[in-house]
Amino acid sequence: MTLPLSHPALSATDPELAALVGAEEQLQADTLRLIPSENYVSQAVLEASGTVLQNKYSEGYAGRRYYEGQQNIDQVERLATARAKALFGVDHANVQPYSGSPANLAVYLAFAEPGDTVMGMALPMGGHLTHGWGVSATGKWFRGVQYGVRQDTGLIDFDEVRDLALKERPKLIFCGGTALPRTIDFAAFAEIARESGAVLVADVAHIAGLIAGGAHPSPVPHADVISTTTHKTLRGPRGAMLMSREEHAKAIDKAVFPGLQGGPHNQTTAAIAVALHEAAQPSFRDYAHAVVDNAKALAEALLARGFDLVSGGTDNHLILMDLTPKDVPGKVAAKALDRAGIVVNYNTVPYDPRKPFDPSGVRIGTPSLTSRGLATEHMPAVADWIDRGVTAARTGDEDALAAIRAEVADLMAAFPAPGLPTD
Ligand SMILES: *Cc1c(COP(=O)(O)O)cnc(C)c1O
Repeated sequence: MTLPLSHPALSATDPELAALVGAEEQLQADTLRLIPSENYVSQAVLEASGTVLQNKYSEGYAGRRYYEGQQNIDQVERLATARAKALFGVDHANVQPYSGSPANLAVYLAFAEPGDTVMGMALPMGGHLTHGWGVSATGKWFRGVQYGVRQDTGLIDFDEVRDLALKERPKLIFCGGTALPRTIDFAAFAEIARESGAVLVADVAHIAGLIAGGAHPSPVPHADVISTTTHKTLRGPRGAMLMSREEHAKAIDKAVFPGLQGGPHNQTTAAIAVALHEAAQPSFRDYAHAVVDNAKALAEALLARGFDLVSGGTDNHLILMDLTPKDVPGKVAAKALDRAGIVVNYNTVPYDPRKPFDPSGVRIGTPSLTSRGLATEHMPAVADWIDRGVTAARTGDEDALAAIRAEVADLMAAFPAPGLPTD
């Protein structure tokens, strides 16, 4: 199905760029997007992020700015902050971080000194770069010590985490990650943080929408600080938030501005406010639960087709597949699936014998397809396409990939994506 042209001013001024945007709209319409950190924002969120709020500088915080003319901007930021506090049930929210990585860097700035020990999950185990991994500033400027998951279960071993924390006495402990298919036990992390005297940071970037919708336990009141992006399961614009109890409010605000950033991206703040409003509606609870139901149904269907899933399945929106038994490297599979109209990312699996740029696994998730309205009854078809695509990747069968691509586009045409142009 060919989408209508939109963005008339852009097309007139810069047809080259407009064509690229149009092509991306078509791609997002036609493909089955399974990258678990991606989503489709609503038309309302898109509109808010494309407003003249873009034009305004507003260093500082509402009521305490370094520039005049903040009559409306202050209200926008107050609205976003109040909605974040109400939705997550926290004392304090800062909606200014430019994205998840700068939000985490602000946490280091608030609670640690360069050279201090910090603890997080190792990147190849499913942690995030910013949890003290070596190539990140957080691993270069701080001394990162890292925990993982058990090889036999694919689950976090809290005895290991406790032993490491008591031995290393980190200033910060990060929990949460980018490839964790199971529920995070915030209470267990909080106990370890308390015993070892660390500040517990729950980085819920991936699962914030599930938490808001009641489909994953909340880190409140266990975590000292909650860091999240706004653009993953929360279905907002690309941005981030830091939340905490009142006692840490000042430290966090000072770290974000003036510690790390200049003027906030007010158009993003506005779109965050809209996304938080949407996430507070009863329909968002349905969405969050549907994301998890779909992931569980997809995991079942993949297991039935002989796929090896890390930890044996999923509790959330995300599935990590080890393709070793299928005899296809993750990258080869991911690239073949992309040609089949199924967008995934290759990913390390815990204890991966292969290199991070050529790992054994593929990571998939259900936030985007659920935003389009696909339900559990569609998951066997999705698993089937993945199965056929992985087989075609192994045998080099380009015709099979093209056939899948056509079938995918057919189903996707029946489930128009939010935010994409329609007639
Ligand atoms: C996505 C993610 C981040 C970083 O967010 P960016 O917006 O990409 O900088 C941080 N932590 C976790 C756990 C994430 O999943």
